[in-house]
Amino acid sequence: AEISYVMVKPDGVQRGLVGEIIGRFERKGFKLRALKLYQTPQEVAEEHYKDLSSKPFYKDLVQYILSGPVVSMVWEGDGVVASARKLIGATNPLASEPGTIRGDFAIQVGRNVIHGSDSPDNGDRETAAHALAARRA
Ligand code: ATP
Ligand code: MG
Repeated sequence: AEISYVMVKPDGVQRGLVGEIIGRFERKGFKLRALKLYQTPQEVAEEHYKDLSSKPFYKDLVQYILSGPVVSMVWEGDGVVASARKLIGATNPLASEPGTIRGDFAIQVGRNVIHGSDSPDNGDRETAAHALAARRA
């Protein structure tokens, strides 16, 4: 089945947005397959964003993800990857539509509250990399 790895980033956890975010995915109708509050290991954070390693903001991005616990989730359903990206909104929260998570709760690209996988393959890959695969049963 198609899955998306969705992570409430440290700012979202710290600001108390976890319940709001989970509620949006639940009300949309996707199935929650795994959930864990955890401190991302540095090497996992670096690997997670390795496609951006040449960007000037890469170091800050990894530091951001390491700055506190995240809520890691696996959501399942047909079309969940693209749909989650719609629920999340554009990368830069100032460009995200109102009604999206980033559009409603963020103003800085470097503090944009939530991650969602950008392809089904990456949904599988990220879920395995964050060691949530065993909890999908
Ligand atoms: P994510 O992968 O976290 O779900 P995304 O797919 O919308 O976000 P990406 O291009 O994959 O966007 O960028 C990953 C993350 O890097 C962004 O969510 C944001 O936190 C950070 N980022 C992207 N562009 C910038 C930028 N210009 N300046 C600072 N941080 C940035
Ligand atoms: Mg991305």
